[in-house]
This record gives sequence, C-alpha cells and structure tokens, in this order.
Amino acid sequence: MNKKLFVISGCSGVGKGTVINKFMERNKDFILSVSCTTRKPREGEFDGINYFFISKDEFEKNIKEDKFLEYARYADNYYGTKKKYIHEKFEQGFNIILEIETQGALQVKEKMPEAVLIFIAPPGVNVCSGDISGGLRELEKRLRGRHTEDEATIQKRLSQAKTELERSKQYDYIVINDDIERAVEEIERIVVKFDK
Ligand code: 5GP
Repeated sequence: MNKKLFVISGCSGVGKGTVINKFMERNKDFILSVSCTTRKPREGEFDGINYFFISKDEFEKNIKEDKFLEYARYADNYYGTKKKYIHEKFEQGFNIILEIETQGALQVKEKMPEAVLIFIAPPGVNVCSGDISGGLRELEKRLRGRHTEDEATIQKRLSQAKTELERSKQYDYIVINDDIERAVEEIERIVVKFDK
C-alpha cells in the first residue's frame, strides 16, 4: 500500500482528541504526527512526544529555510509540521495523521493534493446544505455548559469556530461527532477507501 497522509481538524470543544485517540488505538499502522510549537508545555506534556517545543527564533529560522510542510499562527503561538518528520515516517512505513488547525490543513492540500482532509464537526452542522448555524448553537451550548470560560472567552471561541466551520467546506470529508464510536467508525470507513 502507498502510505497516505490524513489531516484531521475540528473546532475546539468538539471532542476531536478523544476521537483521534480511539482511532489511533485501533489502527496501529497509523502514526500521529508530532508538530513543532512555540507555546510552552502544559502539565504532563513532554518534548518530542506531544510537541517539539522550540523557541520563536528557531521556528522563524525554520520558516526562512522552508523546513515546514505547513505552519500557522494560532492563539499567539506558532505551530508547524516539519517536512523531514513526514518523510521519515513515510519511510518507516506509517500512514500519517496530522491533527492541525484549518489554515495549516489547507496549505497541506495545496502542496500535497493527494492528502485527505477530514473535519470533525459538532452535531447540528448540515453536511448536505453546508449550513453551519446549528453546529455553532451546539458548540455554544457545550461551552456554556462547562462553566469554565468567561463571556469574552466564549465569544472568542465561537468566532474562531465559525471561521473553522467555514473553512471546513474545503475539506474532503466532514464527520459529525454525535457519538464517539460512530465517528471513529466513519473515519475508519474513509481511510479504508484509500487503502489500495
Ligand atoms: P494546542 O495548543 O491546544 O495543543 O493546539 C492548538 C491548535 O493548534 C489545535 O487546533 C491543534 O490542532 C493545532 N495544531 C497543532 N499542531 C499543529 C501544526 O503543526 N500545524 C498547525 N497548523 N496547527 C497545529
């Protein structure tokens, strides 16, 4: 089989991490790409495992030297995927999953049109008509239900989600996360199509 690159994105609060983790547990020929970032490690995160944590200077040097397959600025930090990392993992025989935000995903599609872009959306998004308003209402309900964010943060998250949902229209597949098991199975059905 030719090794494939799958890009998975989704709005924050949509349960994307849980879906991807479950998929990874069951599909051992896939590897989750480790990105570079300039943000500081959170508690329990390790260099080389969750991210390669690098300085802003080093990141910008890598941009100048064209070392990234894609990169983006997100929430005041840089995030990017190294070309070299991807080549190495392909050579080791893995299919690769990039869990990245939408600006980076669309750069990947431009550079590697054979990459498959999957967007995990909240229930309420109408995949057929492209109407995202129901999805935004669902995200708002989830964010408010958590009682962890203040109003300004909620509004910022919702505006970010709106931008990402708009960009999802350029993805190859939209998977609604109404049920984790069902969403994982849908992703498995998508990847199998490319298993040739
Ligand atoms: P966090 O800081 O919560 O780990 O990630 C913030 C956002 O950056 C998430 O949407 C995540 O998918 C995205 N992200 C992580 N790595 C990369 C990357 O290499 N490139 C891009 N474009 N986004 C990334």
